[in-house]
Amino acid sequence: MSNKKDIRALSKEQLRDFFTENGDKAFRGNQVYEWLWQKGVHSFSDMTNISKETREMLQNNFVINHIEVDQMQRSSDGTVKNAVRLHDGLVVESVLIPTETRTTACVSSQVGCSLDCQFCATARLKRMRNLNPDEIYDQVAAINKESLLYYNHKLSNIVFMGMGEPLMNYNNVLKAIEKITSPEGLGISPKRITVSTSGVPKMIKKLADDEVKFNLAVSLHSAIDEVRTQIMPFNKNFPLADLKEALQYWYAKTKRRVTYEYIVWNGINDTREAINALVKFCKYIPCKVNLIEYNPIDDGDFQQANAKVIDDYISILEMNDIIVNVRRSRGKDIDAACGQLANKS
Ligand code: SAH
Repeated sequence: MSNKKDIRALSKEQLRDFFTENGDKAFRGNQVYEWLWQKGVHSFSDMTNISKETREMLQNNFVINHIEVDQMQRSSDGTVKNAVRLHDGLVVESVLIPTETRTTACVSSQVGCSLDCQFCATARLKRMRNLNPDEIYDQVAAINKESLLYYNHKLSNIVFMGMGEPLMNYNNVLKAIEKITSPEGLGISPKRITVSTSGVPKMIKKLADDEVKFNLAVSLHSAIDEVRTQIMPFNKNFPLADLKEALQYWYAKTKRRVTYEYIVWNGINDTREAINALVKFCKYIPCKVNLIEYNPIDDGDFQQANAKVIDDYISILEMNDIIVNVRRSRGKDIDAACGQLANKS
């Protein structure tokens, strides 16, 4: 691998400085920046309004570490899964989920994951490294292109629900979102972006302090510590009391409701006690609950509870004025659904 610097690690200011330091105009930095981000070129030779000498100079100093969509699979329901090869050969996955009116990109923030959710296929992969801001951005840009190609409109929403724990790659995720929302990047409104976390209290507070404008979702799955620790062992270090406190802090600062993601499993959280605990948790701050369909990942240690239990959840939550949606899974036939991203291909 070359030891030239990745040019996209530079901010626009740094690029402008690079050109003035090398006897050119700062404006050249703006032009190159536009090629790199808005136009998304993979090679310096594609920067057609830049002189040949300047392009060669760039070539001698920098590389463009672009991702490559290695393999694309399309599900019978229209969901598209990209296996994305990074510059060092590692692979992550991202998913395009179409509905009649919009398309959503589900993107990865880490290669593998350091958390240990027992029901998630990605957790079986070791966390290899964090993704860089440009690697996150590129996944979104690639899906935006596919959205235009297959569905004739731009990408409308983005969820950080692919591989990894976004709040354990905090700085890079925020930098990527800055670029995604900037008019110089994709110009997508932060209101259309959701970052999903397993619940890292300190980082949820930091989001609030940083006054982020995107939405927050928390994978809750149980509002009882003993149960949550059993299925999400890191809960031992980040117990629900800390999560509650962080979420109250978030709401006090942002005034934005949080989404709780929740799967109902046989023998785990299919009791009245579990439902009551969730109702209680939901009263701490304004929120809504997404009941998500479980996607089996292996031999069946976990089984989705039957419809009757789910109906109980829905009616008791609604009785308590809590908004609840049932989320059907998409792209199951190509292992593209929640919790199934495991680089199988
Ligand atoms: N680490 C982050 C984001 C990645 S997971 C988080 O935990 O929120 C995205 C969502 O998929 C989470 O809500 C997670 O709990 C859920 N999920 C994981 N495995 C699943 C499975 N097998 N079936 C359905 N959803 C799953």
